Amino acid sequence: MNMLESTNLFFAKAADHLGLSEQLRNMMLTPHRVVRVEIITESDSGGLYHHLGYRVQHSQARGPMKGGLRFHPSMDEDHASGLASLMTWKTAVAKIPFGGAKGGINCDPSKLSIAELHRITTTFVQLIKEVIGPTIDIPAPDVNTNSQVMGWIMDEYSKYYGFSPGVVTGKPLDLFGSLGRDEATGRGVMYALEECLKQRGQNLADVSVAIQGFGNVGSNTARLLAQQGARIVAVSDISGAIVNDKGLDMPAVLKWVAEHGVVSGFPDADAISGEALLAYKVDVLIPAAMEGAITEDNVEGIQADIVVEAANSPISPQANDNLFSRGVTVIPDILANAGGVTVSYFEWSQNIQQFQWQLERVNSELDRVMRLAYKDVSGLAARDGLDLRTAAFVLAIKRVARAMASRSNIGHYLPQAALS
Ligand code: NAD
Repeated sequence: MNMLESTNLFFAKAADHLGLSEQLRNMMLTPHRVVRVEIITESDSGGLYHHLGYRVQHSQARGPMKGGLRFHPSMDEDHASGLASLMTWKTAVAKIPFGGAKGGINCDPSKLSIAELHRITTTFVQLIKEVIGPTIDIPAPDVNTNSQVMGWIMDEYSKYYGFSPGVVTGKPLDLFGSLGRDEATGRGVMYALEECLKQRGQNLADVSVAIQGFGNVGSNTARLLAQQGARIVAVSDISGAIVNDKGLDMPAVLKWVAEHGVVSGFPDADAISGEALLAYKVDVLIPAAMEGAITEDNVEGIQADIVVEAANSPISPQANDNLFSRGVTVIPDILANAGGVTVSYFEWSQNIQQFQWQLERVNSELDRVMRLAYKDVSGLAARDGLDLRTAAFVLAIKRVARAMASRSNIGHYLPQAALS
C-alpha cells in the first residue's frame, strides 16, 4: 500500500464516523491542483540531467497552501499527493491558517554537487513560480532539503516578483528565517509527548526512548528530550543503530555525528541493526525517518507503550490497527510533527509584518499551539471512544468542512456532525 492509499484509509475511518457522503469525501480528498514539471539542467561534467519535479496543492479551504519540498528518489505524484493531503489535516489540527501542499524532485542529492543541486532547484522554481507565492503556496524544508535550499528558492522567486521572503519558510536566519525553526518539529514532538505522559501521571524523566532517524527531526527530538531528563537508549540513521541501556550521552552523539556524518561507530554504545531498534524494549518509540517504517511485517515486535510519529506516515494502516488492539498509544503524525509547520507559520507572519520575534516568543507560542492541539484531539478521542489518529482526522475534517461551508453554499450538504 502506498502513502496516498494509507492516508486515504485513515481519512475514510474518520469520514465514516462523521457520516460524510461519497461525494463530499471525493471533494475533500481530490487535490486542488497537481503540477508536474520536467527539469533539464547541465551536470558539472558537461552532460545533461533530466529530473521530474512535483507540487501537489491539496486544499486552500483554510488559507494559503503550505508544505515541504522533498528531494528523494521515491518522490512521485502519489507520494506528493499523500503528503499534501496530510498537510491539509495537519494545519487544521494545529489550527493555523493554512491549507496543505507538498512536492519535491525525484533525485538523489547525495549524488549531486552543490552547484548541480542549486541549478536543479532554481530551474524547478522557474517552472513552478506562477503557482507558488506568499499568498498562494509556501514551500518549506523536508527530507534532504534545508535552509540553504530555501534561501535559493527565495532568491530565485524574488528575481521575478521582487523581494518576497514569505514565499518559503525554513530560510537561513541571515535571510529572513525565524529563530527556533530548525528545531521546531522536534520541540513540537516533545510537547506532544509531554502532554501524553501528563495524562498518564508521568513525565519525560520517567521514560526510556528509541528514535529511528537522526536528521533534522530525529536529532533535535533526541537532544531536547535528553535535556528534559528522558533516557535516550537507542538512535539510528541510514548507517545503522546504536544502543546504550544506561542512556546515550546525547551531546557526545551529536558531536560524533557532526564530525563523522552518521551515528555508526559512536564509541560509548553497542551497534544493533535498524530493525532491532524498532523492536527494542523502551517506553517510547519515535520513528523520525521515512514512511512505512512499521508494517504488518514487523509490528508484532514493537514493545513500546507509546509510539510518536515524528515522521510522516511511518505506520501502515494494518500495523496501526495491531498497535491499537494491543493498547499501544500512537500519537499520529498530523498531531505529533505539527511543530514544524507551526513555526513556519510564525516565520511567514514575521516576513509579512517585517518584524522579527525573539526565540522566547516563538517557543512559547509553539508550546501553546501544540498542547492545545493535543488536548483538542485527546478530548475528542475520549468523548467519542476513538483512537488518537481517528480523532485527529475527525477534528481536522470538521475544521476544513466548516471553512469550505463558510466560503460557499456547500454547508447544506454537510452532515450536522461535521459542522458542530
Ligand atoms: P532528514 O533528511 O533531515 O533526516 C532523515 C533521517 O532519516 C536521516 O538521519 C537518515 O539517515 C534517516 N533515515 C533514512 N532512512 C532510514 C532508515 N531506513 N532507517 C533509519 N534511519 C533512516 O529529514 P527530516 O527533515 O528529519 O524528516 C524526517 C521525517 O520527518 C520525514 O518523514 C519528514 O516528512 C518528517 N517531517 C519533517 C519536518 C521538518 O521540519 N523537517 C516536519 C514535519 C515532518
